[in-house]
Amino acid sequence: MIDPKLGTLAVHAGEGETLAVPSTTTPVYLATTYRFSDAAAAAAYLEAPEGRWLYARLENPTVVAAERKIAALEGAETAACFGSGMAAMTAALLASLRAGDALLLCDTIYGQTTRLARDVLERFGVEIRTVPLAGLAAAVESAPANARALVFESPTNPTLRVVDVPAVAAACRRRAIRSVFDATFASPVNLRALPLGVDLVVHSATKYLNGHSDHLAGAVAGSRALLEGVLAMRRSTGGNLDAGAAYDLIRGMKTLEVRVLRQNETALQVARALEGHPKVERVMYPLLPSHPDHALARKLLRGGGGVLSFTVRGGYDAVARVHDALRMVARASSLGGVESLASIPVISSHRHATDAELATQGIGRGTLRLSVGLEDPADVAADLLQALEQA
Ligand code: PLP
Repeated sequence: MIDPKLGTLAVHAGEGETLAVPSTTTPVYLATTYRFSDAAAAAAYLEAPEGRWLYARLENPTVVAAERKIAALEGAETAACFGSGMAAMTAALLASLRAGDALLLCDTIYGQTTRLARDVLERFGVEIRTVPLAGLAAAVESAPANARALVFESPTNPTLRVVDVPAVAAACRRRAIRSVFDATFASPVNLRALPLGVDLVVHSATKYLNGHSDHLAGAVAGSRALLEGVLAMRRSTGGNLDAGAAYDLIRGMKTLEVRVLRQNETALQVARALEGHPKVERVMYPLLPSHPDHALARKLLRGGGGVLSFTVRGGYDAVARVHDALRMVARASSLGGVESLASIPVISSHRHATDAELATQGIGRGTLRLSVGLEDPADVAADLLQALEQA
């Protein structure tokens, strides 16, 4: 029998006991490892890890709570969290592909996802094929025999094109191509892709899910069978989310619906205020009747989302003047936070795009992207209108 001395007590007393506190929020479990009561319990982990605890790179209770919330929001059997959206996309693609397979990339996806495919996956023998947003379902149908996965997004950045998600998912099913849908812009408030037939939903939870511009996080949601492979990749590549970030993600998700519904309203109001302004060439927002995908947006989306873009007459110099004249809206990349952010695609997300690529995507040198926050809608519109005086 050990009679624990002060130094031993300092290390062990009170640790690892289950606190039966009926707290209304999930505790932050910072432990990197968990105790086994005996050898049989340790051996049982290896037999059936589900619902047991070994090591925090594999599973953490706070992260699991976040995953259950994401699965519930997306209508998924299960979900896995990651340290960033890119870590989530990496695991989803590594779990879906092997050397010799072809990966189809819609031409309007997030730039770093394209670089992951071209700079990393291609080096390991995956063939990369770009497919056009226009006629995406048809492109999937006529994909080469070795096509195994498709990555696509909707609404897209920064022109908010809306994809016929059920048609694309059905085409993927017919061709046994895994559909991987980046739902960062849509958020499950505006579109739930899994019930529409998509195989895997990927999030940069850094954006709307967390919602406060203060943590990087990512998630993959889908069936238990597909998530098994994704979790195997997370174990090997070590991309699990930190427990503290998981706590904030859980807290952020509690207000997801009220935030996104308000951002939907503000973005529509600002889009309407900008459309027809003499210094604005074009406003891109899915719920404006002038948007090319307006009918599809009304059919598929609960709201148009918190991002809109507009092109200022006079090209880059004019938009730079508008950008620099903003007083309340922050000049910053990213989106989905409580504060409104503005960025110029040709010097940020699309700085490497060729003129031809910009033209295909409908992005101008004078385009400004705005992610609306939770400020009063009239204040957001007023800031843009006063900045437009400088165009
Ligand atoms: N997907 C989209 C649509 C994004 O906008 C981003 C980041 O901006 C990512 C994925 C990558 O997510 P993260 O920055 O959390 O790695």
